[in-house]
Amino acid sequence: MAKVAFIGLGNMGGPMAINLIKAGHDVTVFDLSVAALSQLKAEGAVVASSAADAVNGAEFILSMLPAAKHVLGLYLGEQGIVNQINKDALVIDCSTIDAQSARKLGDALAQQGIAFIDAPVSGGVGGAKAGTLTFIVGGSEQDFERAKTVLAHMGKNLFHAGAMGAGQVAKICNNMLLSILMVGTSEALQMGIDNGLDPKVLSDIMLKSSGRNWTLELYNPCPDVLPNVPSSNGYQGGFMVDLMVKDLGLALEAALQSGSSTPLGALARNMYVSHQRAGNGKLDFSSIFNAFDKSVG
Ligand code: NAD
Repeated sequence: MAKVAFIGLGNMGGPMAINLIKAGHDVTVFDLSVAALSQLKAEGAVVASSAADAVNGAEFILSMLPAAKHVLGLYLGEQGIVNQINKDALVIDCSTIDAQSARKLGDALAQQGIAFIDAPVSGGVGGAKAGTLTFIVGGSEQDFERAKTVLAHMGKNLFHAGAMGAGQVAKICNNMLLSILMVGTSEALQMGIDNGLDPKVLSDIMLKSSGRNWTLELYNPCPDVLPNVPSSNGYQGGFMVDLMVKDLGLALEAALQSGSSTPLGALARNMYVSHQRAGNGKLDFSSIFNAFDKSVG
């Protein structure tokens, strides 16, 4: 079992770190949130007093932070930990950030002789808790193979998307599609409700029809259709609207750079930005359903 440092113990990072502990790894954690640290301590983690302290002697360093500024700040900022990391360690950043920032970090680590992969995830908080995440890795084949020592205890599907940054490109393509599916599913369910249908019956019908998709099946945005999803829990937990807006911004930037046409991604981004500006940034992204519900607002 490996000596692992885990930094960023939020909705995703917390349960991911817990799965590493359960698998028998020696896990040292750090987060800015005291509550997150206490929770991990109760699960058997060693709590570090700083990020620099956490990475001391670690073979694998995992980070799961909100956005690129946090990731670049952690490793390369004023108090950056790049000089505290063992030369033979592998850094695995699982945050969703832009490919350019991932490459910038990988290049800076490489200059110090430290290996790096970008390894964003799909599967949500449910997947993080169950250890069934999909990891989408950018980096060398050798580092991808090495990372399996820890990734296999947090995820079920491990993909090597290509060179450094490729994991992030694949991830934002996925999340752009996810946002479009969430908006479309919400729109269809509300139209059914407006026309007298029970959303559960409509969901069952569409799940056996051509409208079937991940959001309808596993993350239904209409309250009380599924148990144990954010929509049935006041849209708490899960994947925040703020983070979806961030990812759709990354998708837009990537599309501008590559000259790609993404009209539905742009529409979904505008809908999520409006939803965020209406005060819903901290709610789960399935709360976009409320944008269609006449009884809300
Ligand atoms: P979150 O906001 O719940 O957690 C982020 C954690 O990072 C917080 O606990 C925060 O205190 C900590 N943090 C921030 N800056 C720090 C620093 N400098 N040092 C130490 N800790 C720091 O976010 P999340 O939902 O866990 O998402 C994390 C990443 O995973 C994001 O990039 C997101 O886009 C991606 N992601 C989220 C989901 C999801 O369903 N929530 C799914 C896939 C990918």
